[in-house]
Amino acid sequence: MSITVIGGGLAGLVAAYWASEAGLEVTLLEATNSFGGHTQTAKLDSILLEVGEESFGDLPHSLFGLCSRLGLEPQPLPALRRVVRKNGQDWALPQDLNLASGFGLHQVTKMPFSRSVKWRLGTERFIATAPVKDELLGDFFRRRLGPEVWDVLEPFISATLGGPAEEVSAPAAFGRLVALERQGGLLAGSRQLRPESSWHLVAGMGSLVEALSMYLLQRTRLLPKQEAWAITRDSRGWQVHLRGGSLEAEVVVLALPAPQAARVFRPSAPQLTTLLNHFPYLHSARVYLLYPRSELPLEPVEYFFARGEGYMSSALKLTHPTSQTTLARVQFAGETARFADSELSRLAQNEVAQLLQAKARPLAAWVFRQPHSRPHFTQGHARRIADLERELVHAPGLFLTGSYLAGPGLANLVEHSFQTTRRALDFLALST
Ligand SMILES: Cc1cc2nc3c(=O)[nH]c(=O)nc-3n(C[C@H](O)[C@H](O)[C@H](O)COP(=O)(O)OP(=O)(O)OC[C@H]3O[C@@H](n4cnc5c(N)ncnc54)[C@H](O)[C@@H]3O)c2cc1C
Repeated sequence: MSITVIGGGLAGLVAAYWASEAGLEVTLLEATNSFGGHTQTAKLDSILLEVGEESFGDLPHSLFGLCSRLGLEPQPLPALRRVVRKNGQDWALPQDLNLASGFGLHQVTKMPFSRSVKWRLGTERFIATAPVKDELLGDFFRRRLGPEVWDVLEPFISATLGGPAEEVSAPAAFGRLVALERQGGLLAGSRQLRPESSWHLVAGMGSLVEALSMYLLQRTRLLPKQEAWAITRDSRGWQVHLRGGSLEAEVVVLALPAPQAARVFRPSAPQLTTLLNHFPYLHSARVYLLYPRSELPLEPVEYFFARGEGYMSSALKLTHPTSQTTLARVQFAGETARFADSELSRLAQNEVAQLLQAKARPLAAWVFRQPHSRPHFTQGHARRIADLERELVHAPGLFLTGSYLAGPGLANLVEHSFQTTRRALDFLALST
């Protein structure tokens, strides 16, 4: 039994891995000459620069387990002071705050809010549950915790999601928080939760891509520089059209971000193209600046900037990769992320100077721009997925995976890829 996976990013590599583990004949097509998609780690001597996400949470069948199977040992992400700058004031976030699960949220009561805000937080459990199903995240937080708390958390959430949190659907992006409100309120529910670590790989997320590629190289047909430009179906099954011919497949897993998946359907299934184009995506860019530690002597910290603070970036993180250096990671979103590399580098240096209130000269700068790289989980997300699934009923043997379907975070993506591969295996078993 054979399966063709289109897209060699993390979603595709994971789908190919599980299909191969199940004993299938696997072909993996990747348009570029390297695997990993947005999951890449650039290396400069001992300094690692993550191009995409750098940490992940824990879910069953998810990244943690997969890493162990591949001989990699995820480590807990080192604690870092996280600060929101809002109205010229610095608000230190609770140390273990994890909004994906809700852990640590009850500690907002210890933040220096006014007495009236604290009193409101004390009565949060008496607030009724959501009046609408697909509530905006801002409305959800304001309703439960009050506008003052939302104003402080919003820059952190926006930076984490890569775009304006105000536009996000609460159930689509933070389903576990929405579930908590039904279990006696966010703060009471958060108190009952067990801590959930965030993990990272010491050699970078690129080491996972390497390990998966090495595994697949020995067991599957890995085809780099093979862009699928269309897929069609005839009596023999699926035909995947490449520049130099076509491939036949019983089952196809399309592991591409929605805009790229939309392109593949344009020649044969324009209705799928239309539905996929309804998933909004955000631009993202990251600038890394390396400074001598003497020029940038601040302790490790991550700042999240509210609008109106005079910063163009959404977040600025400082770490010490060596005892002599400080690495600044400056994150841009939206239209700013589309600026030219030189402009982004200049802006990032200004951001550092503004934070430091003094000019500092970097030793080196790296710019990574990723247009349309981050799904934006806006209102109507669940309906968009339902519409897509309804259309896919007419395409037996075709399965889609990607962050836009999985929800935020790499752990969700890997879990979704695993579940999608399982559905593909069930389909093959039934059709045989
Ligand atoms: C800085 C940054 C932070 C991010 N943080 C988050 C986050 O917190 N939460 C979140 O959900 N997402 C986040 N993302 C989005 C992130 O890219 C995805 O979660 C994840 O990397 C998607 O993996 P993927 O395999 O689905 O897609 P990709 O990594 O985009 O891989 C797709 C692969 O398919 C290949 N390809 C494209 N078209 C074709 C074709 N026609 N034929 C063959 N191959 C093709 C591409 O070359 C690429 O290698 C972030 C992205 C960036 C850049």
